[in-house]
Amino acid sequence: MSAFNEDQFNEECAVFGVFTSDNSAHHLTALGLHALQHRGQEATGMVSFNGTSLNALRGFGHVGDNFNADTAEMDAMAGHMAIGHNRYSTTGLSEYRNIQPFLTELAFGQFALAHNGNLINAARLRASLVSAGSLFQSTTDTEIIIHLVARSHRKTPIDRLTEALMQIEGAYALVCAFDNQLVGVRDPLGIRPLVLGKLEDGYVLASETCGLDIVGAEFVRDIEPGEMVVIDGEGITSSRPFSETGSRFCVFEYVYFARPDSVVEGRGVYATRKQIGKELAKESGIKADVVVPVPDSGVPAALGYAEEAGIPFDLGIIRNHYIGRTFIQPTQAGRTQSVRMKHNANIATVKGKSVILIDDSIVRGTTSRKIVSMMREAGATQVHMRIASPPTISPCYYGVDTPDKDKLIASYMNADEIAAEIGADSLSFVSDDGLYRAMGFTEGRNSSCPQMCDACFSGDYPVKTAGDRFSSGVKNGE
Ligand code: AMP
Repeated sequence: MSAFNEDQFNEECAVFGVFTSDNSAHHLTALGLHALQHRGQEATGMVSFNGTSLNALRGFGHVGDNFNADTAEMDAMAGHMAIGHNRYSTTGLSEYRNIQPFLTELAFGQFALAHNGNLINAARLRASLVSAGSLFQSTTDTEIIIHLVARSHRKTPIDRLTEALMQIEGAYALVCAFDNQLVGVRDPLGIRPLVLGKLEDGYVLASETCGLDIVGAEFVRDIEPGEMVVIDGEGITSSRPFSETGSRFCVFEYVYFARPDSVVEGRGVYATRKQIGKELAKESGIKADVVVPVPDSGVPAALGYAEEAGIPFDLGIIRNHYIGRTFIQPTQAGRTQSVRMKHNANIATVKGKSVILIDDSIVRGTTSRKIVSMMREAGATQVHMRIASPPTISPCYYGVDTPDKDKLIASYMNADEIAAEIGADSLSFVSDDGLYRAMGFTEGRNSSCPQMCDACFSGDYPVKTAGDRFSSGVKNGE
């Protein structure tokens, strides 16, 4: 099998970029990536411009393990412009060569690139580039963009990048660095987030606003779908090189992925999650003694649920923070074991009580199965599970790590069957309408709301062309 395997393109990542007037860009990038650590913990990297050349520093593990102030490696990265990337742990292939940002020497000079998202026509593009003589260094889809830039005959680096992006399909929030220019681009559907912030003497690009807060940048606006911004010593310019398609922002950013203190596409993530909990209580409220979140992802929704239902909220499960996300274990046995290592029952708050357990989503059912039985072992008299998203029935091809459709428990079982499978007394998911109401669309999900990408819950994929993934087993709209 080729080292290039689209099943490993499960890249939930963070990007960051800064252009400033002093030599602090490397430190600001380390801070920004630290705030965005939740978007990727497998590896981290930065490329900075020291006034003469772009230089890279990368490593496996967390930002704090790699970018420490006062090390010789960090001192060597001093510069006024830098980009950075956090990579998510995926189902296997962890290789140094896949750590971004990528830094290359092209005909016009150095070019560095960091990407959050997923290209759906990657296999076809890669095959044609390889047959035309391109030598790939990594197994990522991101590298395809570099080869397309390298092969472009357009005059300026920006025009070459634009031509390259015209050829790709899928989701991308990119930060790039050329000679003395920082570039940010969002795909025409704006599936993945990218925001712009202002420093006293420069600009910041980040996947989420929490990456601006940490460096003291003021939020300016979201980079718009299909927009390219170029930042240099003269300031910022914006262009829209792609034809308008209408935006399809990812609803899963609100459900799970973004940090609760971020504001994405004008909506506070925390407030949205709390409101989903309220909608859930309105739709499928049930009497119980206590509302317990599955930490950390279920906490805001559980607070909303408890407030709406008038039932006490309490921490019935304590999370050990010194373990990575359970979801990323390559085997089911590994996942089950890590759920145990990650969560433990707080017997004092659940013993002898009927419990409403709130989590943000059910994917394979591994977490809920373990947590329900943990509640029973701790003495809960009843366990009712409420989920702050609709059933996850379809995989994401745009940058969120989801297993294949046949592993998604809600794709082959209804709520009652899942309740029986995970051992819960009852189980309900928030409805599509409830989710959209929580995002501020009072009529629910209908044709009058601005469209979003909710393919994981609806099977309605925004990129309708037959991408390689779609033609290799999974059909559109399944
Ligand atoms: P599962 O245990 O397979 O049912 O997965 C559900 C749990 O994984 C929930 O607690 C979610 O918070 C979390 N989760 C859902 N989607 C993802 C994702 N794409 N990446 C990492 N964790 C996730």
